[in-house]
Order: sequence, then C-alpha cells, then structure tokens
Amino acid sequence: MTRNDPGLCQSLAGRAPSARLAAASMAAVVLLLSLVWTCSAAAGTVLTGRAEQGGLVAGATDPGARVSLDSRPVPVDRQGRFLLGFGRDAAATAELLIALPDGRAEVRALAVSRRDWRIQRIEGVPREKAEPDAASLARLKAEAAMVRAIRERITPEPQYLGGFLRPADGPVSGVFGSQRVYNGNGGAPHSGLDIAAPAGAPVHACADGTVVLAAPDLFLTGRTVMIDHGLGLISSYAHLSRLDVVAGAKVRRGDLVGAIGATGLATGPHLHWGMSWLDIRLDPEAVENTLNALYASISLNKKQ
Ligand SMILES: [Zn+2]
Repeated sequence: MTRNDPGLCQSLAGRAPSARLAAASMAAVVLLLSLVWTCSAAAGTVLTGRAEQGGLVAGATDPGARVSLDSRPVPVDRQGRFLLGFGRDAAATAELLIALPDGRAEVRALAVSRRDWRIQRIEGVPREKAEPDAASLARLKAEAAMVRAIRERITPEPQYLGGFLRPADGPVSGVFGSQRVYNGNGGAPHSGLDIAAPAGAPVHACADGTVVLAAPDLFLTGRTVMIDHGLGLISSYAHLSRLDVVAGAKVRRGDLVGAIGATGLATGPHLHWGMSWLDIRLDPEAVENTLNALYASISLNKKQ
C-alpha cells in the first residue's frame, strides 16, 4: 500500500480540484474494496492447531466451500468445517486450496514442521505374531482390508467439538512414530500411543462419536474398538480384554468402551490408542493438543 502512495499522489497533482476530488474518492473506494476483499479472503478461513508431522489442524471456512490438501479432496461439513491431517513422513510444505462458493479461491502454503522419530526395540513378542505364517498373513490382509474400508466411509458431521480426553490413566509406554524393531527384526513405525495400565482398567471414548468397529479378535490388535468422530477422524483402542460397546452405538466423550488387556500383538497389558484422518495415522498427543485448543476457542466464543 505504501509503495503505491507516491504514484497516486503524482496522478492527482495538477488536476482541477473537482476532478481531483472525484479521483480521490474513486481511489478511496477502490482501496476500501480491495481491503475488504483481502480481509475477507484472509480472515474467511480460520485454522486451529499446528501443521506438523503426525499433526491435525481444524479449519473453518465459508459454508459451501470446497477444500483440498495437495490436490486431495478434504471432507467439509455444511457449515464449512474441516480437518487436515499430516502423516508421520509428511513433506515440509502442503498446499491448502479453498474454493469459495462465490468463485474466489484461497491458496495457502502450509509449512509442516518436521519431527524426529525414535527407535524402539521390543523383545519377547510371540514368534507366531512377530513372524506370521501364510495362513496368518492371509488373515492379516483380510483384517487390514476391513479396517481400511471402515476408514473410507466418511461421515459429514463433526462429532469432535465437545472436547477430548485421554482414554486411559497410566504412563506412556510407547510414543507415536517410533521405528519398531520386534525380536531384532524391523517393523512398521508405531501408529499410535501406548498407555501402560493394569489389565481390567477402564478405557474411555476420547471424544463423542459412533462406534464403527467392536471386534473380538483381530490378529494384531486383539479385541479392538474404533469410533468415528466425523469428517474423517477416527480413534481406535486395541489389545482390550473386554468390549463394552457394540458397532453402531453412539458414545459420548468419557463413556466406557472396554477394559485394558494384552490381546493380539502385545507383550503385556496396555492400551494402544490410535487416531487417524482418512487413511493417515496421526499422533494422538498432537490430536489432543489441537482438539483441546479448538474446544477452548469454541467455549470462549460461546461466552462472548
Ligand atoms: Zn501400540
């Protein structure tokens, strides 16, 4: 704006007073319009949370907008709310494109913070679990396909707006993203957060949602519950000793979903707590930070 000022003054100099006045008011109108335009385009979309590897960002834009992240369509609800998830190995930048219903488009280059992931060695895993045979591999494949299909069904209403909590009490015994080595052999990175607790201790829903899976015996995760929180966000609870919910049940944040156990691929009783957005695994601690911040801002707006 400052750069344009000298040009504006020069073009007005030497004209008749009335023409100068008309030109000045026109310039003011143009300036005002451009300011309104810029502000509404910039302030129309609000993002909460940190764009980081394993992280979640909650967005709110104009109703009717279409959103994509690196050209991938993002689920948006009728009020313009959406979520963005970043995988463990997400690139340093991501392009957020918001096509507003009036034809304008907003493009933002998001800087995605890089994180360092640990290496965790786990010994004493039963051999048949660490090195599955052909029959077990076939079972694993079928179960993975079933879970993938659940993650592909997107419900358009956000159910995560009523707050968030840790599903179990206990120390963290395994963080998200660490490179796992089972019995000396490399495995996939850890896809969730492990909370150590005695067998039988309660496990609660981390947020409101709908139970989309309550499986009694999956090869890797044993007794497993998955809860859909809307707009692609799903939580999962693995290695349970008991299931207290059935598929299709509506749950509120804090409701009992099961009990701590060591079913599936586990060397002792603990909760493996997973969070995902679409097919991307997220760090539950990062999701917790974002959804707590979102809840705080919603509560603040209600009070005002
Ligand atoms: Zn785990």
